[in-house]
Amino acid sequence: MKKISIVIPAYNEEGNLSIIHGEIKKVFLNLPDYDYEIIYVNDGSRDATQKTLEEISSNCPKLKYLEFSRNFGHQNAVKAGMDYADGNAVISMDADMQHPPTMIPDMIKKWEEGYDVVYTIRKYSKNISFFKRKTSDFFYHILSSLSDVELEKGSSDFRLLDASVIDVIRKTGETDIFLRGLVKWVGFKQYSIDFVAADRFSGSSKYSLGKMIKFAFTGITAFSMKPLYLAAYLGFFFSFLSLLYIPYVIYAFINKTEISGWASILMTVVFFGGIQLIILGILGIYMGKIFKQIKERPNYIIRSKNF
Ligand code: UDP
Ligand code: MG
Repeated sequence: MKKISIVIPAYNEEGNLSIIHGEIKKVFLNLPDYDYEIIYVNDGSRDATQKTLEEISSNCPKLKYLEFSRNFGHQNAVKAGMDYADGNAVISMDADMQHPPTMIPDMIKKWEEGYDVVYTIRKYSKNISFFKRKTSDFFYHILSSLSDVELEKGSSDFRLLDASVIDVIRKTGETDIFLRGLVKWVGFKQYSIDFVAADRFSGSSKYSLGKMIKFAFTGITAFSMKPLYLAAYLGFFFSFLSLLYIPYVIYAFINKTEISGWASILMTVVFFGGIQLIILGILGIYMGKIFKQIKERPNYIIRSKNF
């Protein structure tokens, strides 16, 4: 009997767990040919998430949980679930019912047809806020133009991965994980399905604007050195411009036609000061990644688990 592992990261999701758990169990009632397990990764929740998981697990043998020692972030939570899953395929999905469990049978069907990766593209529901929609579009736009992996607009973390792909991802020792990129990057036979994201069942989004911006930086820098090249090109461009400007300055000096330069000097100093800081920042981000990687700290720390 083939086994499917469902991985669900949960950060302050007390109001969603019993709903999603019930819905997934219902889906598998109609898939009697498959064994399954549902692995919840409690990502350092401050609410009753852990208590709820323990309660549900006491009368559901399919439920496994991992409790992190603190909040390590969504991507690390999904990675942990993948590390501990032992199914022939692993499906990752959110705890808040935005990823419809009713799509699980379609994903399994495609997997059975021979696809190793069945990923999903989120189409917008009417209720999603204008701000979230625009920032998300902008994120994918920047990401596609600045990174080396081609990510479709609306790529989500709701996907099925064959055990062979999971094996590859387990072996990548990256500290700053960006799964959407990583999954594209590994290759294999991939198939995409569209879905309309439902509204969050309970609670509010755990991705603040700050977290989203950081996520965007992680995504770009994990898959591309384009920002570094961009910095270098910018340097060449302005060096060239200044070469044109220098003869003019000398000419003006010799002919004593120079005019007072307070405004122009200040403008150039401020402008180039800004550009230099941006470039330093870009260098810094890459250096920070090297620093993090070289320390080899674990991606997550487990406080407790029930298996
Ligand atoms: N999540 C997590 N750790 C975090 C933030 C989020 O495990 O630090 C989980 C969260 O519980 C949910 C999933 O990641 O299951 C997606 O988060 P959310 O629904 O808040 O993101 P959105 O759908 O708004 O992009
Ligand atoms: Mg959500």
